[in-house]
Amino acid sequence: MDLPDNAIEIIGLVKTYPATKTTPQMHALKGVDLAIPRGSIFGLLGPNGAGKSTMINIMAGLCKKTSGTVRIWGRDIDTRARDARAAIGVVPQEIAADPFFTPRESLEVQAGMYGVPPSERRTDELLAALGLADKGDAYVRQLSGGMKRRLMVAKAMTHNPPVLILDEPTAGVDVELRRQLWSYVLELNRRGVTIVLTTHYLEEAEELCDHIAIINRGEVAVCEPTATLLRRLDTRNVVVTPEEPVTEAPALEGFETKLRPGGAFSVTYRTGQSSVEQVLAALRASGLHIRDIATEDPDLEDVFLSLTYAAPQAEPA
Ligand code: ADP
Ligand code: MG
Repeated sequence: MDLPDNAIEIIGLVKTYPATKTTPQMHALKGVDLAIPRGSIFGLLGPNGAGKSTMINIMAGLCKKTSGTVRIWGRDIDTRARDARAAIGVVPQEIAADPFFTPRESLEVQAGMYGVPPSERRTDELLAALGLADKGDAYVRQLSGGMKRRLMVAKAMTHNPPVLILDEPTAGVDVELRRQLWSYVLELNRRGVTIVLTTHYLEEAEELCDHIAIINRGEVAVCEPTATLLRRLDTRNVVVTPEEPVTEAPALEGFETKLRPGGAFSVTYRTGQSSVEQVLAALRASGLHIRDIATEDPDLEDVFLSLTYAAPQAEPA
């Protein structure tokens, strides 16, 4: 059988949550196009509320899209819903472990739901792979948060899908367990499983993913190989605290400036184009008296700014 080039293809995906008595109508996805290459570890990066979970829940068949096309492993989720669902395992953002099952029972029930015959079940293998071998017969309510999350990963893999999707997998997971989780995920990827994960931590996406899509307010701001993206993310901030607090960020020739709390301001520069030295020179030339200066690495907000306002801002008239 031919394998698809893309594990997942999303074309013009729109999701509008209708208004309720207490909330206005919400445009969670505004026409998203995305191709996730087979075999990749793909990061969906974006701040809270960007639309990541909505996108994943649509792929998982847990949320109904408003319009657009989604193909999983070449299978349209509208016309081949069952086949599409069989091709992915999803670890949702919210942990929803059944407190009355043991992990072993939980995995068996899940495998049964996907029609995996008992001879092909991998319950013990999955428990071991996720560091739960000695918890197989404990009650789920006795497991720590990290263990529950790993159980969710095991559940998502019971039917051996070629695509594994993890929504915010490291929320509430401590460092040690995180490492275990990643080593399992990387091992799956080495065996050919396409991995999609969402996170709002740039660092996490940077470390794990070979491709990153940045999504913001229901739109894909950028989607490219991690190395290409990082080359573009060369913005740095210098935070300046003047002797006299300012109420407006001063204009500095060649740099973007922004007001900070407490009468301070930031100066943004690109490491590829200028240096801290040049920022300092521009500050000196401006005649400001400076009390303190600190440098900052970019956070997600700066990343969006640098990607969405890549062109220098127009000179004031
Ligand atoms: P993310 O996972 O990136 O944090 P979500 O997909 O959860 O983002 O949310 C995207 C937007 O859609 C947010 O503004 C959120 O409040 C809204 N939203 C999410 N789920 C629902 C829902 N069930 N009903 C109404 N609005 C929702
Ligand atoms: Mg989410």
